[in-house]
Formats: sequence, structure tokens, C-alpha cells
Amino acid sequence: MAGLLALAREQHRNAKAESYCANWYFYRDLKPKLLLLVGYERRPAHALLSSEAAYDVASDAIYEALPNCRKCGCISLEAS
Ligand SMILES: [Zn+2]
Repeated sequence: MAGLLALAREQHRNAKAESYCANWYFYRDLKPKLLLLVGYERRPAHALLSSEAAYDVASDAIYEALPNCRKCGCISLEAS
């Protein structure tokens, strides 16, 4: 979990790139790792961590650590 937050924070190094998509990075890279740690797919199951609430808290924290999207198009996709 702390490792994933560190990965998310490292994304700020890409801040000078022309475009950046936090969602793309999250779903492609971080979410598969996160699902191994929290939520229903966690193995072995854990009393606290194997819950949807635990997944929500963890994914929110990681999202907050990511830079904002820039010129990536996903914001307009969400709005449609
Ligand atoms: Zn985006």
C-alpha cells in the first residue's frame, strides 16, 4: 500500500510532459497491484482488507497522490 502511494507520487516527475492521464496510469498500472492487496480478490482473504470499503479508501488515497490529468481526453469522456 505504501509502495503504491510512492509510485503514485513519483508520477509527479512527469509533470512537465505535454499530456498526462492519471486514470490511464491508475487502471493500467496501479489497479492490478491494488487488487492484490485490498478488495474481494485479495488472497489470502483478510477481515478488514478484503472489503469494498477498504478498496475504496485505498484507491481514493492513490488517486489523490496522482497528478491531475492534462490534455488526455478522459475528462471529456466522463462528461459525456
Ligand atoms: Zn485522463
